[in-house]
Amino acid sequence: MARLIDSYQRKFRYLRLSITDSCNFRCSYCLPNGNCIDPALEGPLNLDEIINLTTAFAGLGVEKVRITGGEPTLRRDVVDIISAISAVEGIDQVAISTNAYRLAQLAPRLAAAGCKAANISLDSLDAGKFARVTGQTTNQAVLDGIDAALEAGLKVKINAVLMKGINDGELSNFLDYVKTSPVTIRFIELMRTGDNKEYFEKHHVRADVLALDLVEQGWEVMQRGTLSGPAEEYFHPDYHGHLGFIRPYAKNFCDGCNRLRISCRGELKLCLFGDGQESVRHLLQNPTQMEELQLTILQRLSTKKESHSLQDDNFGTTRQLASIGG
Ligand code: SAM
Ligand code: SF4
Repeated sequence: MARLIDSYQRKFRYLRLSITDSCNFRCSYCLPNGNCIDPALEGPLNLDEIINLTTAFAGLGVEKVRITGGEPTLRRDVVDIISAISAVEGIDQVAISTNAYRLAQLAPRLAAAGCKAANISLDSLDAGKFARVTGQTTNQAVLDGIDAALEAGLKVKINAVLMKGINDGELSNFLDYVKTSPVTIRFIELMRTGDNKEYFEKHHVRADVLALDLVEQGWEVMQRGTLSGPAEEYFHPDYHGHLGFIRPYAKNFCDGCNRLRISCRGELKLCLFGDGQESVRHLLQNPTQMEELQLTILQRLSTKKESHSLQDDNFGTTRQLASIGG
């Protein structure tokens, strides 16, 4: 069977699958007013649709699936979903992106179902700032969730969106954390989406200065694996954990793109900041549609652009990342 390779010879072995666009947090850069789902929309993909979808992608060479959202742990069948995806032939890594609100209870069940890694949002280690950003006072639940994930054997990465005037002065807090904790903290540059114009203009800051600070303090860049994300990661012999940066505004950011995205209603999104998202849901209804589904995915991939145009203030049609999974 053909493999997922685009016109620029990039190989796609990584699928990000949103299983819901609901969320219980109100992150100020993402869903400041909480959920805003149109009740007229159909529900998210069910378990059978998810199995048909991941089987098709695995047949095209996808090896890693990340479950995301919205907040994926809000779905009651999240453990069943992970278990079913783990059982798909060819898939050897299942991971989850979560705000960790429910992780302290769920981590052992997720691990038993085959989940290998968790990316956890934690924008500040300061309880007051955490509440200001997320609209929740549950930063202890997130910290407990991280501990539970590590105890359950999951590889843990923490995502902190870098925000001017909020957490851009918190590097020393995060350094203290990774001194003893074996996690990777990645600072993500705030991205412009359809809904966050004002917030972006006020709080966007480049990560370059923090990266220079790290190098001055003896941190060194690590090699990237083929299934790795877009982060540039650093290690230091005196620290248990690692630090990293995701810089979507950096030149050549898209050269290493290795992931495709599916929204919770089955729309294929070729780029987080692209225009189109065509639904393949009608091809997920029966395993006999597998070949047509795979041909549709391959045809769509052939139209993927070389790069996003964020630097030209063109952020595509994504209103907020909760709708597609970040
Ligand atoms: N709810 C889960 C979570 O927060 O991890 C999964 C979905 S969330 C959309 C995935 C990631 O996207 C989170 O790390 C979040 O901080 C990040 N994110 C959301 N909106 C963003 C934006 N405008 N710029 C940069 N990162 C963003
Ligand atoms: Fe929810 Fe994640 Fe968006 Fe925060 S970043 S509002 S936790 S989907």
